[in-house]
Amino acid sequence: MAQVRHCDNLVTAQYLRIETGGVACIVSRIMIIEFQELPPIGTNAFALIEPSLQQCVIVDAPADAYAWAQQVADKHGCKIVALILTHGHWDHILDGHQFAAAGVPTYGHADDREMFAAPSKMASYAIPGLELKEVPIDHWIQGGDQLELLGTQMEIRHVPGHCPGNVLVYIASEKAAIVGDVIFAGSVGRYDLPGGDFSVLEKSIKTQVYTLPDETTLYPGHGPATSVIQEKASNPYVKG
Ligand SMILES: [Zn+2]
Ligand SMILES: [Zn+2]
Repeated sequence: MAQVRHCDNLVTAQYLRIETGGVACIVSRIMIIEFQELPPIGTNAFALIEPSLQQCVIVDAPADAYAWAQQVADKHGCKIVALILTHGHWDHILDGHQFAAAGVPTYGHADDREMFAAPSKMASYAIPGLELKEVPIDHWIQGGDQLELLGTQMEIRHVPGHCPGNVLVYIASEKAAIVGDVIFAGSVGRYDLPGGDFSVLEKSIKTQVYTLPDETTLYPGHGPATSVIQEKASNPYVKG
């Protein structure tokens, strides 16, 4: 029988990891998910925090996201180990260049490559006078990828339709998905922007969002959190 040892001082174990040599290590995983609505148009930034590893991952970078992420990291004594961008729209990537300049590895989908490289092309859709800076992407991600971050698996699903490169980040261990602008509580993402298409969006929601377990909490890029079961039951645009 495997030996069991506690790997840290926390006693509540969410899962048992069997290490080589048959030693079972009880790892206390208490991932904290914080989010904050940020300027200039109310876009959510997310911090996935794993205190036992002293690491956090940030998802999306509206204005002031870098300062907010640093505050969160300091509060939990964590290092920011990744910035994942759900898509390339200007309001989600404004502060991305600051993370990159600080050496935080960045992740994005190649179908939004142009918007990461030259966000000023979206200037006509943004607030006039904003400085839109390139966000260098270190890791191109695609649907089906399993990122190993914070000691857990994060599944990337490709959910185009709002824009070509929207991805969602599904963290099965937390029953949570950060979805960008594909779906909102009681609504769906705009499909009238360049690269948008309602039939593509509908297919993404049906095949990539509604196929997540019902109890999955959905964290959209704007507005409050919702859940798969709630949207399947009541989303007026895409029926479950
Ligand atoms: Zn968007
Ligand atoms: Zn948005």
